[in-house]
Amino acid sequence: MANTKTNKLGIALVGLGKYSSGQLAPALKETEYCYLTGIVTGTPDKASKWKKQYDIPEKNIYSYSNFDDIKDNPDIEIVYVVLPNAMHREYVVRAARAGKHVICEKPMALTVEDCDEMISACKNAKKMLSIGYRLHFEPHNMEMMRLGQKKVFGSIKKMFAEDGLAEVEGWRLDKSLAGGGPLMDVGIYCVQGVRYTSGLEPLAVTAREGAKKNKEKFKEVEESLTWKMEFPDGIIAECRTSYSEQLNLLRAEAENGWFELTTAYEYKGIEGETIEGKMKFPKVNQQAKQMDDFARAIIDGRPSPVPGEMGRQDVKILNAIYKAMETGQRVSI
Ligand code: NAD
Repeated sequence: MANTKTNKLGIALVGLGKYSSGQLAPALKETEYCYLTGIVTGTPDKASKWKKQYDIPEKNIYSYSNFDDIKDNPDIEIVYVVLPNAMHREYVVRAARAGKHVICEKPMALTVEDCDEMISACKNAKKMLSIGYRLHFEPHNMEMMRLGQKKVFGSIKKMFAEDGLAEVEGWRLDKSLAGGGPLMDVGIYCVQGVRYTSGLEPLAVTAREGAKKNKEKFKEVEESLTWKMEFPDGIIAECRTSYSEQLNLLRAEAENGWFELTTAYEYKGIEGETIEGKMKFPKVNQQAKQMDDFARAIIDGRPSPVPGEMGRQDVKILNAIYKAMETGQRVSI
């Protein structure tokens, strides 16, 4: 199955913005089971720059209009969709129809219906679909999963999760492309964090939009948002997200102790502590680990630990949080 020359699966990145250029392409120089072999871009200048920088063959360079021809290109086995959120659905479905395995960036899509269509398209094509949830491969976050799910400090009583950026611009402020504000972009990590720390699914949510300090900038999307997630057995998660404040926390309080990451969701510099002391784990390249795991899943014929269904559940929860914010009501999931 793997490329015979390199013994690695070929990946094409769709959308050469900040995340592709700053994180994914460099990570693909460190991967063992996959490599960057193709690009899809609407900007000819980027195509020639990437071609040189990453030694990409001309025949593996596509635009959005001839993207479907990728079906005839055996070099490309995985398509990685790294476009604005509202475009994920279309490009995942087109990649599946072209017979490729797909990685889709978070949030998977804007609606649960779109997620269903993406999951079906990949199933029908007998191709795998995963979401770019890099933190599932990051040792401190994996430790949070172990401590919480194995009840190392007893049952969790309460969780806190906060993720915010001090500054954003561009399509992230455009509701039609982003689907919402910081909740869709970074608040999703709080939803993920409390789900994987507890290993439980929320039953209901309540939410309150923060006051807008910059009404012009945030005319389409929320500037900040606090919400509460109710889990089985009375477990509560208090969460917060913002586009005007730097936030980064994942904390669990259990019967016999607490554990937390005070830098929880960054690409680098993650720090954790428990009631017993500092966590000590090696630094990893999260994106390289995430993409290698997907390539290994394809090679080994096993499921991905971060499948489309996980992305769909997050989209369902995000939409419930927005509904709670808009109606002021408690919304069941
Ligand atoms: P970006 O704005 O830097 O890049 C977006 C790319 O899409 C650009 O190359 C742009 O040219 C292209 N594009 C095509 N059509 C477009 C349109 N109509 N409007 C705007 N851009 C268009 O964004 P980014 O930060 O690279 O984010 C891309 C995706 O990756 C998003 O879904 C985001 O949530 C996700 N992301 C994930 C992580 C992570 O840690 N997993 C980090 C950053 C971004």
